[in-house]
Amino acid sequence: MTGIATDMTATTDSRPYAKALERLKTVGLRPTRQRLALAKLLFDGDDRHVSAEQLHAEAVAADMRVSLATVYNTLHQFTSVGLLREVVVESGRAYFDTNTGNHHHFYHVDEGKLVDIDQSRLSVATLPEPPEGTSVDRVDVIIRLRNGQGSVQS
Ligand SMILES: [Zn+2]
Repeated sequence: MTGIATDMTATTDSRPYAKALERLKTVGLRPTRQRLALAKLLFDGDDRHVSAEQLHAEAVAADMRVSLATVYNTLHQFTSVGLLREVVVESGRAYFDTNTGNHHHFYHVDEGKLVDIDQSRLSVATLPEPPEGTSVDRVDVIIRLRNGQGSVQS
């Protein structure tokens, strides 16, 4: 549809924000300037996994004046209303996924990179009975990869 997405030159045209605005409206979040700008970075284009630090760096590169704390807060707000899904790969390391459908992940440990695995490509053969009074919400699998040809057993 658009071939100009990489051009960051300022424009008075508000059209580029239409998609971001629509997303915020749908979930009832007030479209503040910062939310709009961050939503545009997140949702214009293909699905992606970003850390707060990555998004902050992109925002700064796009001449946004925004603190890392604000980026964190906004990402968590977006997550709580279902615009994003948080994928915690290890303690203190989380990615925010624009693909909120059910799917699994490869995690490239050496590069710190997540890649989607379509739900249809992986099945979990046996699930334990959920504890009394609970039900399974979803199952998400992270397959952790290392570069090179390691072996599982030592
Ligand atoms: Zn994903």
